[in-house]
Amino acid sequence: MKISTIALFIATLFAKLVSNINDVNYTQNLIYIFRNCINILFFLAAYLGIGKYYKTALNLVSDKTIRYMSLYPVTAFLLLITNFTTPTHIAHLRNFNSAYDMILFLLFILLGYILVFMGISSASQIVSMQCNLEKLELISKTDSLTGLYNRRYIMEKLENEFINYKKSKNKFSLILADIDYFKKINDSFGHDCGDQVLKAVAQNLHNAVRERGFVSRWGGEEFLILLPETEIHDAHILANKIRETIEKEIIEYNGIQLSITLTFGVTVNEDYETIGDTIKKADDALYTGKGEGRNCVVLS
Ligand code: GH3
Ligand code: MG
Ligand code: MG
Repeated sequence: MKISTIALFIATLFAKLVSNINDVNYTQNLIYIFRNCINILFFLAAYLGIGKYYKTALNLVSDKTIRYMSLYPVTAFLLLITNFTTPTHIAHLRNFNSAYDMILFLLFILLGYILVFMGISSASQIVSMQCNLEKLELISKTDSLTGLYNRRYIMEKLENEFINYKKSKNKFSLILADIDYFKKINDSFGHDCGDQVLKAVAQNLHNAVRERGFVSRWGGEEFLILLPETEIHDAHILANKIRETIEKEIIEYNGIQLSITLTFGVTVNEDYETIGDTIKKADDALYTGKGEGRNCVVLS
């Protein structure tokens, strides 16, 4: 049975009991007021009953305006129920007080418009703020030339990986790669050409590592790759594959065809090491590779 019908029934009984006034209009006004009072009581009871779940749902919507907005359809719905659920045998009551209902209805429609506009404008503000935040976050963790992660971000990742290792004992590997004789490219073909080479190498590294790990621009023409949960054997295979791919690739710049090579230092973390120790091992291996003639992979 609908709330409004129950409310009307109780209100009529109550009105009959408390008033001996015969004036039909006066009595009907009284009924109307009682009906609304009892409706409010029902809604309050319903609110106490389902309020907890409703609040939980509302909390998912973070913005204040949207929160208020979400109340609008609920209120409008309750208003509709109140006004259009009068039983047929007392249907003449339905049109009674229609002027009040009309004003209330118009108010609700007006309020609805205001809330919708406020909601739309604040929602669009939130969206643009989120876009800006995402852009800022991306800028703060990437290198502008290559689009790879920057040194600061890879250090964060390394620290996380280090903490994971303490819990899981899953080792991580590091590959430090450096372009061979890069200065010569700059000197011979210009800085812009050097930039193109850096981009091409970055793309290669990114393609090779993808979901397996994180590639960063560690400095000038040096790249650090972090491979979580990877043993040195697998890191070695990967580094060699990258080395071979880059060695074969022809990089084009303004009609100039270039081929370059990279030297790699590969290592895995050990129990007693700090992050600094592990990076140093990769760096030492890279240095050894440079000494051994470049274009090679050295393990440490
Ligand atoms: P090696 O084989 O020993 O690594 O020799 P290399 O010439 O690659 O190394 P070196 O350290 O002598 O030179 C690195 C050069 O990289 C010097 C620097 O001007 C250049 N470089 C650093 N950052 C950038 C950059 O963003 N763009 C360009 N075009 N060049 C850069
Ligand atoms: Mg170099
Ligand atoms: Mg270098």
